[in-house]
Amino acid sequence: MHLDRPTLQEFLADPSGGIVHPPQLAALLQDVAAAAISIAGMTTRGALGGFLGAHGARNVHGETQARLDVLAHEAVLEHCTRSGSVAALVSEEQEQLQLVRAADSARYLLAVDPLDGSSNIDVNVSVGTIFSVLQRPDAPSGAHSDFLQPGHQQVAAGYAIYGPSTMLVLTLGHGTHGFTLDRERGTFTLTHPELRIPEETQEFAINASNMRFWEAPVQRYVGECQAGHGGVRGRDFNMRWIASLVAEAHRILMRGGVFLYPRDHRSPARTGRLRLLYEANPVAWLIEQAGGAASTGRERLLDVAPAELHQRVPLIFGSRQEVARIERYHHEHDRGTDKPYVSPLFNERSLFRAQELA
Ligand code: MN
Ligand code: MN
Repeated sequence: MHLDRPTLQEFLADPSGGIVHPPQLAALLQDVAAAAISIAGMTTRGALGGFLGAHGARNVHGETQARLDVLAHEAVLEHCTRSGSVAALVSEEQEQLQLVRAADSARYLLAVDPLDGSSNIDVNVSVGTIFSVLQRPDAPSGAHSDFLQPGHQQVAAGYAIYGPSTMLVLTLGHGTHGFTLDRERGTFTLTHPELRIPEETQEFAINASNMRFWEAPVQRYVGECQAGHGGVRGRDFNMRWIASLVAEAHRILMRGGVFLYPRDHRSPARTGRLRLLYEANPVAWLIEQAGGAASTGRERLLDVAPAELHQRVPLIFGSRQEVARIERYHHEHDRGTDKPYVSPLFNERSLFRAQELA
């Protein structure tokens, strides 16, 4: 990067390192940034602008919409259809996909959670906007199936976080980079290039009120963390829970940690809570690009083949060593090798274990 602190526009236009971003994609990301600046303006004004409180309707998931959920969705729709590069848009706040432009020049699909963590708005805790950009198929159907691509096919992903400062965190497959909004200039400036998540951590985040519904491998992992210094982990852990995916992902990108919203057994059984296309996939790619890992507990998150637009998925992400451990606990559970009293052949120090590591 030839500039010390390039703006988002300069970053996207800079071909240093041999990386050339298609101008259409750069234009789309500028539109997403413009939507984020508009939403940041609303979250900052808060009650002064009449932006807080409930909207009175429910979204496609049966959740109560906040006034800002609806306004953020409208801001995304207004800004992100400007460049002409978006063919269709999927939003958490809208059941059907929105066709934007049929022209061949509209090469991208945008999936977005316009306002993540909206239960936090009225208590003035960080919220955000999460987005994922996919390439439109060569022969687009103009229907849902265009969006049903695994996360490893994303061409750009990121989030804006509206906290004490507003930041945009972005990946195009060459690292994860953080930009801070300069309100006077109305631009995002690169302040956190090449984010790296520490491989190990002593901090985990999970909604402990669901403990009775967790599967055995999650019970085991959290139990071991809670046992602290005297337990098998041999050290004390801290716990965090903000109930805003963006805020959890941001903390983990900044200082490490692990986040779990696992599959659980509540009735009816829930295959996770977070949405694959516009929550889990973009966060998973940002985390991987920063040297971390993301999983369903049983497979790499980015390899999950979506079946529905608003599909939910279990999501575990963060420091690579911890995610690997949690995956191992799931695999041991599924093979029946994690029982408390098992043959020495099948325990942690067995041949099977050695084979698994080899
Ligand atoms: Mn959300
Ligand atoms: Mn939302």
